[in-house]
Amino acid sequence: MNQSTVIAIDGPAGAGKSTVAKEVAKHLGFMYLDTGAMYRSLTLKALRQNIDLNNEDTLAQLARDTIIDLQIGADHALKVFLDGVDVTEDIRTAEVTNNTFYIARLGRVREVMVERQRAIGKAANVVAEGRDIGTVVFPNAFRKFYLDANFEERANRRFKEMKGKGVSAESKDVQKD
Ligand code: C5P
Repeated sequence: MNQSTVIAIDGPAGAGKSTVAKEVAKHLGFMYLDTGAMYRSLTLKALRQNIDLNNEDTLAQLARDTIIDLQIGADHALKVFLDGVDVTEDIRTAEVTNNTFYIARLGRVREVMVERQRAIGKAANVVAEGRDIGTVVFPNAFRKFYLDANFEERANRRFKEMKGKGVSAESKDVQKD
């Protein structure tokens, strides 16, 4: 039986992981696994259901009960489906961005997500990105990369990205975040 191939890209926010991962996936014809989109989707669902973001039990159960589907369209753009509904745009709002950290820090939520990510990497060739991809999720990936950029540049990219989406933000606050 052929084994699938995983290419892992780790690094901090604003380092350029998504841009590089998407390009590499497109070039190789691999699936692009955006793990941040998975944490964002669960956050969106929790916010919509007014769940306390400190409640690990409830959030771990919510993760188990949630279907998150990542699909690449003919235009190579990523589409994200939460329980069958397209949330591609909804998971990029400032509210979701600012709250995802609270959910992503919960160990039992991460266990569910990591298990799902491994299942995806087992079923298909993937270029996977996220801050724990090469260390935790796919320690035996075929190739692992750690992408970084200097602090000012990373903050500047994130600031521009937010402005581009019409989110009001102060440069110093983005640096602090
Ligand atoms: O990469 P992106 O900005 O979409 O990720 C959203 C958030 O999800 C991150 O800021 C981080 O808090 C969390 N995350 C994580 N582990 C991952 C991917 C994302 O904790 N593998």
